[in-house]
Amino acid sequence: MRLIKLNNMNTCLYCKELLTGRVDKKFCNPLCKSAYHNQSLTSAETYIRNINKQLRTNRSALKTACPQGKATVRKEFLLKLGMDFKHLTHSWKSKGGNLYYFCYDYGYTPAIESGKVVIVQKQDYMS
Ligand SMILES: [Zn+2]
Repeated sequence: MRLIKLNNMNTCLYCKELLTGRVDKKFCNPLCKSAYHNQSLTSAETYIRNINKQLRTNRSALKTACPQGKATVRKEFLLKLGMDFKHLTHSWKSKGGNLYYFCYDYGYTPAIESGKVVIVQKQDYMS
């Protein structure tokens, strides 16, 4: 009986469209699924997610500016690449006493020349 089956049909948890196909389906498509999960994030989770995103952007900016292990660049160049200097994963002090600020496997320290930073790629001895 088709009518009885219709009454048992579920609607998409996000857009409330009638669902067709498998009985255990909860969403009409992957877009509705991710939209539903995004809206249900708490503000703390959103905060963490945004910082993680910024850390990845920082890492990518440092990597772009330092393709071969070590480089000295202007801070503005990193800012243009989306760098936010507030967010770091850890720090490391060299034998010479320079403090490096890391985003995962790329770090930087202020250069002698003002407005510039020295970027390094993480080496085994830095752990
Ligand atoms: Zn939907």
